[in-house]
Amino acid sequence: MKVGIVGAGMVGSSAGYALALMGIASEIVLIDQNSALALAQAEDISHAVPFMSSTTVNAGGYKDLEGAGVVILAAGVSQKPGETRLELLERNAAVFRAVLSEVLPVVPEAILLIASNPVDIMTQITTRISGLQPQRVIGSGTILDTARFRSLIGRHLGISPQSVHAYVLGEHGDSEVLAWSSARAGSVSLHSFAEQVDHPLTEEIRASIDDGVRNAAYKIINGKGSTYYGIGAGLARIVKAIAQDHRDVLSVSIVTPEVAGVRDVALSIPRVIGAAGVMTDLFPDLDEQEHAALNRSASLLKGLADSVRL
Ligand code: NAD
Repeated sequence: MKVGIVGAGMVGSSAGYALALMGIASEIVLIDQNSALALAQAEDISHAVPFMSSTTVNAGGYKDLEGAGVVILAAGVSQKPGETRLELLERNAAVFRAVLSEVLPVVPEAILLIASNPVDIMTQITTRISGLQPQRVIGSGTILDTARFRSLIGRHLGISPQSVHAYVLGEHGDSEVLAWSSARAGSVSLHSFAEQVDHPLTEEIRASIDDGVRNAAYKIINGKGSTYYGIGAGLARIVKAIAQDHRDVLSVSIVTPEVAGVRDVALSIPRVIGAAGVMTDLFPDLDEQEHAALNRSASLLKGLADSVRL
């Protein structure tokens, strides 16, 4: 499958690099308003290819997206001093309006995969602007938070993250909800697994895992300015599910008719992903507290999305 990436900064190029190493795409096209950057990233990534795969990596213009099955949107502007979150959001919405007016005429059938933040709102805006079916406008959502959650649980229990089934729901951001009550390791509840291996999940351990997931990005940003390898691999993972029609269950964000009592809101819950995009939404069993937290997260996102002027 041919994959387009608009925004060849740290996130877009990391996604391109992960895709190239994994050999998922037959061709990758990188597009950026800074065409010298797009060209340099494409050249650099293409030099990794001979070691790992046979993907063709090029920089190009929007017309070069022709034939792409997925277009990753990772373009964005960063916050100016004194700028409010809503002002930043409106500037990013303007970037997306400009980008979509170029992308959609060339690839009206492509699945759009959104990485730019705030990713849930950008997903809602893209769905509105594009008029595409929500199942084909997918935000990376909490895919990364879920990976961090599984990794920290796995580390505590002494097992691989792939053997942990646990999801982070709601916003990709501060109001996200770690769904502890439905989490499992192997085929047993987390609580039971932890008791069997004699690594109990005390309140303290849970609080430290919660902090590790919720504040991971802040810690990385403090150390190196921004995050990109994790989300790059997460985006490549979503593309793999689409390109190979895997029907994987991944936590991603799309506009959903109703979640925790809030209507038409983009946020993450586990969803089945295949060639057509999102095929099925899954609603995990939640305890009362988690349900209330998901309602708060959904209400916050819905309020913010409704306040953006397009
Ligand atoms: P970056 O500044 O390195 O890259 C952004 C790129 O977008 C730049 O190269 C810029 O030239 C390009 N761009 C801006 N306006 C454009 C336009 N109109 N047309 C084409 N290109 C345009 O930023 P980054 O670190 O790559 O982050 C990109 C986005 O991803 C940000 O919104 C960031 O917050 C988000 N992000 C999301 C996650 C996640 O989990 N979803 C994680 C990290 C970062």
